[in-house]
Amino acid sequence: MSHKLPWYGPDMPARVKVGYMTFIIEPWKHGNTISTDRLGECDVAGQTIHVNTEMAPAKVANTLMHEICHAIYYVYGIAKQDAEEEHAVTMMANGLSGVLVDNPGLAEFLDQLSRQEAWEDAA
Ligand SMILES: [Zn+2]
Repeated sequence: MSHKLPWYGPDMPARVKVGYMTFIIEPWKHGNTISTDRLGECDVAGQTIHVNTEMAPAKVANTLMHEICHAIYYVYGIAKQDAEEEHAVTMMANGLSGVLVDNPGLAEFLDQLSRQEAWEDAA
């Protein structure tokens, strides 16, 4: 299950696992966000991440990263919801987005290592 995006490119996954929780990813149309000026939302109680998908692809990726950082902030009990969290999450998501843009292949490398259960011989 995944969501088609308005431009050519990979589909957005329908779910993301963060620690012990699985969040549903729901695309937001511009109409949902125009009144609040928000690009996304992490609803911890509803286990749902909303992302405005009617933006430039890199901004969609950054917003999804931002909302996943909110989920990490909650799941790993970093702190309770407050303005400090918003600032820290924005810095983390912006930094991670920049690292991914500047280092092609890094995300795939980390993904593959994260799934490897034990050391395996290269030969
Ligand atoms: Zn935020």
